[in-house]
Amino acid sequence: MNPCESCAMADKICECCGRYPDTGASVDLVLENHYHVTACPYLDPEGRCRIYDRRPLGCRNHFCGSFHPHFIAATVYEVLNMFQEIRGDED
Ligand code: SF4
Ligand code: SF4
Repeated sequence: MNPCESCAMADKICECCGRYPDTGASVDLVLENHYHVTACPYLDPEGRCRIYDRRPLGCRNHFCGSFHPHFIAATVYEVLNMFQEIRGDED
């Protein structure tokens, strides 16, 4: 699973979606609990990117500290599975 899907809003704001990377633009975003945060104009109050399919390269290439362990573990698991399939190993 992509760790971004379950990432807390506070982490998103601090780490990756506090501003739009291409321009540095940010807006006042009112969350559902009525808290105000400063965020990228494309972040919605539930923490989803409104332009996810066409988000800029700076967003696509952003890997934060919490993303790396999950990403590396998932990649190693997939590579090991791939080798097992190639060698014809059984579970
Ligand atoms: S890149 Fe990191 S901080 Fe940003 S949403 Fe994904 S897990 Fe959260
Ligand atoms: S464009 Fe989307 S992914 Fe990029 S900073 Fe804004 S909300 Fe986050």
